[in-house]
Amino acid sequence: MVSIPECIWTAMLDAFAEAPPNVERVAYLDGVGAVGEGTVTTVTIPDADLHVGWYEVSAEAMSLAARHGRRYRLVRLAQVHTHGGSDCEHSPRDDQMAYSQRAGSLSIVLPHHARQRPAVIDARVHVRTDSGWDVLGAEMATKHVRSIPSVVNLRSTPWKPSRIGTKATREAFWRRWLPFRKSPSPSK
Ligand SMILES: [Zn+2]
Repeated sequence: MVSIPECIWTAMLDAFAEAPPNVERVAYLDGVGAVGEGTVTTVTIPDADLHVGWYEVSAEAMSLAARHGRRYRLVRLAQVHTHGGSDCEHSPRDDQMAYSQRAGSLSIVLPHHARQRPAVIDARVHVRTDSGWDVLGAEMATKHVRSIPSVVNLRSTPWKPSRIGTKATREAFWRRWLPFRKSPSPSK
């Protein structure tokens, strides 16, 4: 299982949104753990050649995209790329040109060049087995990738700055803080 924090997924979609329209986008999800088992910490956008219907990551671009992984001891946990339409199954080229052919590697494909900001659960997930790339059904996919929240805010009321606190005066500052100052506790 590879866990993808929401904020990382969002950062990847933001990066994809900057690409020219109608070309495929590609990114790698790097993190801590091992192939097929880890937590994503970093989105890597390779300097790929992006085209309508395909992309290419040159050997040089791939090498550059691996540098920080060595430096921070990250593992490449998944590849994500986009298709222009709703069909998100690997093409023969996708099978051949995937970032890794190691068993357990994951390849995620997003529809419509991710313009509709799909969630992890909307993605088409492929896993590399000993015999090739398998496309997973929705239920199987949840056993391989999951989204985890980046912020859990359990406050029942929204945060509002206090009226006193917004007055930038010395008087207001002391009125705010004096009641909370602890008097020195007597030694036991
Ligand atoms: Zn593809």
